[in-house]
Amino acid sequence: MLSSHPNITTQTIDNNLLQQKKIQLQVLRLDKVHPIISGNKIFKLHYYIEGLDKKAGKTIITFGGAYSNHLVATAYTCKLNGITCVGIVRGEAPKQLSHTLQHCTEYGMQLQFISREAYHQKENNDFTGQLQQQYENAIIIPEGGYAIAGAKGAALIMNHVADEITHICCAAGTSTTAAGLLSNIKPHQQLIVFPVLKGLNDIDQRFDFLTGKNFNKEQLHIRDGYHFGGYAKKTVELIQFMNTLYNEHWLPTDFVYTGKMMYGVMNLLQNNFFLPGSKVLCIHTGGLQGNLSLPAGTLTF
Ligand SMILES: *Cc1c(COP(=O)(O)O)cnc(C)c1O
Repeated sequence: MLSSHPNITTQTIDNNLLQQKKIQLQVLRLDKVHPIISGNKIFKLHYYIEGLDKKAGKTIITFGGAYSNHLVATAYTCKLNGITCVGIVRGEAPKQLSHTLQHCTEYGMQLQFISREAYHQKENNDFTGQLQQQYENAIIIPEGGYAIAGAKGAALIMNHVADEITHICCAAGTSTTAAGLLSNIKPHQQLIVFPVLKGLNDIDQRFDFLTGKNFNKEQLHIRDGYHFGGYAKKTVELIQFMNTLYNEHWLPTDFVYTGKMMYGVMNLLQNNFFLPGSKVLCIHTGGLQGNLSLPAGTLTF
């Protein structure tokens, strides 16, 4: 079903600094999978959908906030595959749905709003038990696809990464995508992860859980200094960086994930983190629809 993605391309970025430092930089454009759906999200859903007997009338239930790329990706994927889906949304129903939630409903997802307090308790058995009763045959996918099956799906992204690559860079929210990449990385490759949340202190446990501790710690580099104040926080500097990146290289990024990752990569480059001769691949995980929440004119693209 979703295993072939003919739209994915690899974009080469070139500038004086890269030439000076003798580094090759490429971007794997998973954002090209779909204009609205984040590339990595579709991979994370792969095994949930693949294993599903559609005739059995299953319902997929998952969770997210009003701007969740995961919710909209689930809605889209379910629509493509003819599966009923329900999105449990954090917070009371707003008067006006966010762009993200509008897309979810367009793709046929039923939305169920629950209070922040109830949302906080969503993992507890009472609540999931209730959902199982309410929706017969429900399959519950954790928020952000944060599960071993999600990481396995994300590991398929490595099929798009050439062996000659020495460093793979990605943004991390739940870390599921990063864990998938790490589990499928070649021995000579390094993974550099840029958390977009402030104080993601349990990241080591996340990698352990998602990979079954099956990875080499030496290949994992977490660079925590590029969250710009926390999840979905931004500064003028970040926005300027994203505009410049687009103006100079035609590379659109989102302010929640990929803009921060690219900023981090360029900063590491300036600080000689990468040795001459390195071939660096940044995973553009998508998320561009999130930019619609910015005031018009903030970005030049
Ligand atoms: C969700 C998302 C991420 C983070 O993925 P995780 O697997 O949760 O770490 C990165 N980039 C974009 C664009 C996303 O939508």
